[in-house]
Amino acid sequence: MAGDSEASNIRVAVRCRPFSAREQSEGEAKNALACTNNAVQVLESTRMPKSFTYDHVFGCSDSQEAIFEAIGLHLLDNAMNAYNGCIFAYGQTGSGKSHSIMGDVQNEAEQGILPRACTRLFSRIQEARQEESGFEATVLASYLEIYNEKIYDLLTGGDAGELQVRNHPDLGPIVPHLTECPVESFEEAHELLDFGAKRRAVGATQMNATSSRSHAVFTLQVRMVTSRPGGHIESQAKVHFVDLAGSERQKKTGAAGERLKEGIGINLSLTTLGRVISELTKPGTRSVPAFRESKLTLLLKDALMGNSRTELLACISPSLFNLEETVSTLEFAARCK
Ligand code: ADP
Repeated sequence: MAGDSEASNIRVAVRCRPFSAREQSEGEAKNALACTNNAVQVLESTRMPKSFTYDHVFGCSDSQEAIFEAIGLHLLDNAMNAYNGCIFAYGQTGSGKSHSIMGDVQNEAEQGILPRACTRLFSRIQEARQEESGFEATVLASYLEIYNEKIYDLLTGGDAGELQVRNHPDLGPIVPHLTECPVESFEEAHELLDFGAKRRAVGATQMNATSSRSHAVFTLQVRMVTSRPGGHIESQAKVHFVDLAGSERQKKTGAAGERLKEGIGINLSLTTLGRVISELTKPGTRSVPAFRESKLTLLLKDALMGNSRTELLACISPSLFNLEETVSTLEFAARCK
């Protein structure tokens, strides 16, 4: 594991979704933004600042493939070289997080980053096996959610009790008892994703919530062994795909009781994530980032620093109707740079 003082490699991208058919039919399709390939300008605002720059900005006509090529592909290729990777999708509910991470799995052109990443990973493993006769790799998948600062296994067939994250001296953050399933193809990974998504929805209903209130983390762990006449070399990497809870603020939803507690939990994870990323990206920072302050950052500590590549994809709506939340997402993403 890399040392704590090492800065991470974090890039920030913004994706603006197109207007939905409903927005168009209900007269909510008034555009509030102009996007170039690395900037978003807020057209309809009396607030400052009006223009934000990022590593990448994707407009409503950018394809799923273009987004994967720009921010997903290198994570997978780096994983084969034992670099951890992580993609976070951030934004208000309905801004395109799930579309970007999962997309339409059945329709190849509309598949999101995760299905494409799986396909790419298994084909890279196949290539490596052919290129080097002593190469072998296994891939383990896990899927968990963090709801109200509690971790739940989405792949267990049994009782989904709360799990804990522990800091292992050699392995970094680990979640004892989390289900890890060997996968050999995207189809197998997809079955697990389906199973987990159903569990997530059932769990949310039982807690009288919606799944947009929890963070979902799908992880592929790649374990590689290269056998040579003099011995063998072992390496491994983890790639996390994180569909964050909706970032919308509480005052709009008028929350009370459980909902308010839940909102505080979501805000804690999201604000801690923002703070940790911004501390990691500030050159010369001496303070140790506040990983311990939320389950999400504690769990993903290894993916955020040291031997890792991280992409934050901030998803936004183009609509004037959503401008307040959009500006808050743009500001969050700008702070992460
Ligand atoms: P979130 O996960 O942030 O709540 P979704 O990904 O479910 O939002 O997106 C809301 C709706 O908008 C879905 O119907 C989705 O298919 C659609 N959508 C989001 N982004 C795009 C896009 N870039 N192109 C086409 N449709 C999109």
